[in-house]
Amino acid sequence: MTETEFLVAGDDGYDVSRRVWNAMVDRRPALVARCRDAGDVVAALARARSEGLEIGVRCGGHSVVGHAVPEGGLMIDLTPMNAVRVDVERRRAWVGGGALLGLLDAATQPHGLATTAGNVSHTGVGGLTLGGGMGWLAREHGLACDNLVSCEVVTAGGDVVRASEDENAELFWGLRGGGGNFGVVTEFEFRLHDTGTRALSVELDFPVGDALSAMTAWRDLAAVAPRSATYAATVLGGVVALGFVWVGDPAEGREHARELDALGRPESQRVAELSYVDLQRREDTIEGHDLRRYWKGHYFHELPDAAIEALLLHDPAVAASIQAYGGAIADVPDDATAFSQRKTAFEYVGAARWTDPADDEAQMATARASAARLEPFASGAYVNALGDEGAAGVRRAYSPAKLARLTALKDAVDPDNVFHLNQNIPPSGR
Ligand SMILES: Cc1cc2nc3c(=O)[nH]c(=O)nc-3n(C[C@H](O)[C@H](O)[C@H](O)COP(=O)(O)OP(=O)(O)OC[C@H]3O[C@@H](n4cnc5c(N)ncnc54)[C@H](O)[C@@H]3O)c2cc1C
Repeated sequence: MTETEFLVAGDDGYDVSRRVWNAMVDRRPALVARCRDAGDVVAALARARSEGLEIGVRCGGHSVVGHAVPEGGLMIDLTPMNAVRVDVERRRAWVGGGALLGLLDAATQPHGLATTAGNVSHTGVGGLTLGGGMGWLAREHGLACDNLVSCEVVTAGGDVVRASEDENAELFWGLRGGGGNFGVVTEFEFRLHDTGTRALSVELDFPVGDALSAMTAWRDLAAVAPRSATYAATVLGGVVALGFVWVGDPAEGREHARELDALGRPESQRVAELSYVDLQRREDTIEGHDLRRYWKGHYFHELPDAAIEALLLHDPAVAASIQAYGGAIADVPDDATAFSQRKTAFEYVGAARWTDPADDEAQMATARASAARLEPFASGAYVNALGDEGAAGVRRAYSPAKLARLTALKDAVDPDNVFHLNQNIPPSGR
């Protein structure tokens, strides 16, 4: 057994570990534990305990508020644990707790297989899956967390356990939507599907001042769309892009695209056949590192005309993206997993990005104001789209009954709230 590698400021790799997606996050952990296996995580937890250090857990580093990076604390950096093993016969993948989504797709797609992952390949499997995990396959095959078969977990007490439907079932329930509250997942086992390797993307552009009827028609089509189609829209810079992503035979997707004639005549349009892997990477650059970021999210059970009108009044500098849910996401009974928002019809994220720190307050205020206009129509929020809302945000992500069950689980597995740098579910009485 080799010794666990701990880095301090000035060591090679220290700055790489502490740098995360949002350039606003510039914190310096006292120690970074570069973990290669569950044993390293156990050693890191023991050292944090003995030195009284706050713990952050890092996978992809895409938490918009930088939960992975504890100022003056100990970062459990899982990124060395990025191996992906595929069993083609059994349709299974075993994924290290620090892997990025792109590695998962790269291992499964040569076999025409995939499981649900998010839309940007440098996002972490860890944070995405533990919060739910929405992606282009979710309407057909469920959220990323719905495809989990089992997890290897290091608990707050330093035990290495397995969680599945048959083993530590309550912990497994909490890991599917409860975020990083209940332990460090060192390996995820996923179910894979025969998805093929092809996809189609269709986007129709309308000027924002003249898009109401197009967008209401788009909304109505989304409600009855086949599961291969995930309707998506973007409002940015005075233009509304309305369309869908199709995973599967592009010819069938083109056939479905005829339905979009109901939207009226667009100013311009983009229809692209692409590989599933390219689809998964297509936003990697625009959603890249090095920019300052802030976002707000909502879920909607429905999108009335008045909500669409509010969306079209969005500040042109804040990118509003809307993605349809439904299908297999809604097939799963609400109490089957911690993920709490199965009746969602659409998810909204309003995101600002900029470079100059002097603009921080103004940019954040603009994003907040745009999201506030939509708040009256919202039914809650996606835990992975929360930012700096704190306990109020967590109450938007889970129903009261779910929150009570999550709190009971937290009491059982992490009563001292060792894992609190996350969208935190505190133990009762804290
Ligand atoms: C560019 C971008 C695109 C996105 N696209 C999507 C999308 O398409 N679909 C979607 O559902 N979400 C999406 N998200 C949201 C994303 O799911 C969350 O930001 C998520 O928290 C990122 O996980 P991470 O591992 O990259 O982040 P990190 O910051 O490393 O971790 C986030 C949280 O999860 C905890 N955590 C991470 N890994 C583990 C682990 N193995 N064990 C225990 N705790 C862990 C961390 O402690 C932290 O609290 C996107 C985010 C960004 C920035």
